Amino acid sequence: MPITPEQQAEIDAQRAETTPTRRATAPGIEAHLYEAKPVLDHGIVRAIDYMGDDAAIVQAARVSYGRGTRTVSNDEGLIRYLMRHWHSTPFEMCEIKLHVKLPVFVARQWIRHRTANVNEYSARYSVLDREFYIPAPEHLAAQSRQNNQGRGTVLEGEEAQRVLDMLREDSNRAYDHYEDMLRTDGQQGLARELARMNLPANVYTQWYWKTDLHNLFHFLRLRADPHAQYEIRVYADAIAAIVRDWVPLAYGAFEDYRMGGAHLSRGAVEVVRRMLAGEEVTQETSGLSKREWAEAMGVIG
Ligand SMILES: Cc1cc2nc3c(=O)[nH]c(=O)nc-3n(C[C@H](O)[C@H](O)[C@H](O)COP(=O)(O)OP(=O)(O)OC[C@H]3O[C@@H](n4cnc5c(N)ncnc54)[C@H](O)[C@@H]3O)c2cc1C
Repeated sequence: MPITPEQQAEIDAQRAETTPTRRATAPGIEAHLYEAKPVLDHGIVRAIDYMGDDAAIVQAARVSYGRGTRTVSNDEGLIRYLMRHWHSTPFEMCEIKLHVKLPVFVARQWIRHRTANVNEYSARYSVLDREFYIPAPEHLAAQSRQNNQGRGTVLEGEEAQRVLDMLREDSNRAYDHYEDMLRTDGQQGLARELARMNLPANVYTQWYWKTDLHNLFHFLRLRADPHAQYEIRVYADAIAAIVRDWVPLAYGAFEDYRMGGAHLSRGAVEVVRRMLAGEEVTQETSGLSKREWAEAMGVIG
């Protein structure tokens, strides 16, 4: 269960409160604030707070005294220009704070994004819940034969069932032992900071994660990408849906110039120029390695 009824009641109470403010507010993200978006079997993403909106990017770029916005098309044009030309600091003027509940093995990938502020649930101070990520059958796949960092076809039949049984049994056995070691009736009880070490990497943790829009776009570009592991990609997708509503102009530019755009090497650009001039270029005559050639052809179709 992603959240308990008590937690939902706390969220509802917080969502019922509003505060008048002189600060810029973004209606798109206001609608999402505090709401727990379910991800995986027990995970959540919640937008807790934010600073700025599309206009704040424009305001910072123009170093304005007031709101600094002009017409929507003018502001959109500026935002798209900034994104196209990697003028990234105006995007850093917007910030977002998220509450995320995620399996520890996903957190290990996520924490590599160093340009964020993080505060994690303390398993030295509190006891972790009996919540483990168990993949849905359609995500239980074999090792990919083409990609060492990926998965291939879905496991089937007896093998799939055996794997699911092992994951469930191992998780529960580890948690039973965790509880047993913590127990203080008739024994001293092991410290929480030590007892946690036998829990598997699919146990859920939680953190508050705050970052600015520039670095969030970097995170989304890497983690909402098809090459990212499914289990982190679904979190990136849930965050992207919030960001799209928060800063629609900036998100549109991000989709066009980052997610949907592509980077070509000098050699690949030269190949494209030769092709446009009517030359029949092959991998052998391109000067590109086989892998680079395949990647470049993947970009230009
Ligand atoms: C598909 C995929 C596969 C991956 N596989 C592996 C793997 O096998 N092993 C592994 O260890 N990691 C792996 N990673 C993690 C990856 O190498 C990065 O650590 C991670 O994506 C965070 O990126 P980042 O450093 O750009 O982000 P951030 O830490 O948010 O940094 C953003 C940018 O700030 C700058 N920056 C931040 N800190 C420093 C610093 N100390 N010095 C210089 N510049 C800095 C850099 O320009 C950086 O790009 C993988 C990531 C992806 C998306």
